[in-house]
Amino acid sequence: MTLLTEEQREKLSKSWIRIPYVNETCIGCSACVAISWDVFDLDDEWKSVVKALENYENLWVDDSISACPVNAISWK
Ligand code: SF4
Repeated sequence: MTLLTEEQREKLSKSWIRIPYVNETCIGCSACVAISWDVFDLDDEWKSVVKALENYENLWVDDSISACPVNAISWK
């Protein structure tokens, strides 16, 4: 699993590409991983993390945002 680094996030944020962001309120329920397995994974602390991708569109991120019980996911 290759995670999105802060450097990559910074670079992508300066382009037109929308990037999913998971905040610190994640409780590790894994709903987002089940829905958008190409985008999210759980780290060793059972927190959702964003994988490094070229494009996050059409990968059910909006469905993961809707399913997250603590509203931890947003687009940046
Ligand atoms: S759905 Fe929300 S709470 Fe559950 S793992 Fe994903 S970000 Fe965390």
